[in-house]
Amino acid sequence: MNDYLNTINGKAVGSDKTFESINPATGEAIGRVPVSSQRQVAEAVAAARAAQPAWAARPDAERKALMMKVAEVINRNAAYLAEWVTREQGKPLGGVGPDQVPGARFEIWGCEVWTQVPASLDLPVEVAFEDDTRRDEVHRKPYGVVAAVAPWNWPLLIAIWQIVPSIRAGNTVVLKPSEYTSIGTLELVRLINEVLPPGVVNTVSGTGEVGSWLVSDPGVDKVMFTGSGPTGAKIAQAAAKNLVPATLELGGNDAAIMLPDADPKAMAMGLFWGAFINMGQTCACAKRLYVPESLFEPTVQALKELAEAMPMGDGLKDGVVMGPIQNKMQYDKVVKLVESAKQQGGTIVCGGQPQGGAGYFYPLTLVTGLKDGDRLVDEEQFGPVLPIIKYRDVEDAIASANRLDVGLGASVWSSDVEKAKQVAGRIQAGTVWINQHGMIHPMVPFGGVKGSGYGVEFGLDGLKSVTQPQVISIKK
Ligand code: NAD
Repeated sequence: MNDYLNTINGKAVGSDKTFESINPATGEAIGRVPVSSQRQVAEAVAAARAAQPAWAARPDAERKALMMKVAEVINRNAAYLAEWVTREQGKPLGGVGPDQVPGARFEIWGCEVWTQVPASLDLPVEVAFEDDTRRDEVHRKPYGVVAAVAPWNWPLLIAIWQIVPSIRAGNTVVLKPSEYTSIGTLELVRLINEVLPPGVVNTVSGTGEVGSWLVSDPGVDKVMFTGSGPTGAKIAQAAAKNLVPATLELGGNDAAIMLPDADPKAMAMGLFWGAFINMGQTCACAKRLYVPESLFEPTVQALKELAEAMPMGDGLKDGVVMGPIQNKMQYDKVVKLVESAKQQGGTIVCGGQPQGGAGYFYPLTLVTGLKDGDRLVDEEQFGPVLPIIKYRDVEDAIASANRLDVGLGASVWSSDVEKAKQVAGRIQAGTVWINQHGMIHPMVPFGGVKGSGYGVEFGLDGLKSVTQPQVISIKK
């Protein structure tokens, strides 16, 4: 078994203490990861601080060109990185493209695209006011050092979302991947360091304790966090203590609402992947589906047929479409929520029983007969289970969508886009998709409201969020 190392100031750095990364499809250890010490975290932040002024001083065109080189490195190493995603995170290799399984190759393709797009965006000087007496320009300045903390569900893609806009804007970065999926990310950062100056992107690794050292380091100027709400609250406190801003992309419990004029057959595939992409372990998955009585049976039937047709197994094998749940903690959570659904009167349409054997496999599960207030409806399952809830009146479905304290995404499904837009506008969520769910795009801002966090990523707004405005005010 190999040791995988952090990159600090362009150098490979190990640690006295290590832990093993586990393949969730087999339960086997696949590599050793360093547990960074507090001193190493401080060294990584110091390296990022030292590298930042020269990085920010480079001409914009040079930084853009280097970012395109980063995209090339990702492209060249796509097969290697995708295999790490599958072995460590569990999602099948799958393909790239709308008609193929959105698996590990799709994740690496996303890394490439989400590097090229910020590299091609400009942050022009804006003139806020001008008359005969004065001209006020708004310039965009990098914060300095960005501390980034990532989760385990889309480990490389989310790391890229945090790293790339930050460095594009002239910041430097110290990233801590999730302890469940460190190796792929450490390898990604090692590889992109081949084309970046030392110190621009650094990593530290270990559990939440290492993350807490990182986000509270006084050398950090901005925090980017993607993960759970409770951890987000701790990180917001740590950032507030040092008076640094934070972007928090937290959990959600996205509602999908079918309107009475929706076509269940035509929409089933979109709904299915909206709920089950990456085994439901995606922040903006549809996590509760509200269906009018008139469409209930055909919708449940269409989703059941799809769920039962998806081959599940070790994602390195050909033809596998669904992988395991990523870790034991998440697996246990899914098992418990399904058991609670059974006790609270839910009917299991398909799945609903742990499979046993090696790996954290759990069948795709549809549950009917639940209502708002039941645990599987109210708590984020973050797994391959979808409660389908019957409603009578669209007003009730809108109220249901809005009654929780989270608001990341939501979707409305209808044959009439105008009607769907009216409903969409009344839902409390950062994004409401119409006739699709979770379809993020590198040019379109993405972020949550309420307990799903604050700040946005992607597009021009995402790029602005890793900069601070500086006004230059000129007397004429
Ligand atoms: P988590 O909060 O348990 O862990 C996320 C990261 O935070 C890990 O790297 C972890 O080591 C680190 N961490 C833990 N405690 C810390 C602390 N006190 N200080 C600093 N770092 C700390 O989340 P997870 O289980 O990895 O991810 C699942 C959750 O993330 C779900 O709720 C999901 O909805 C959410 N998520 C949100 C988005 C989004 O964009 N909104 C995307 C993916 C996942």
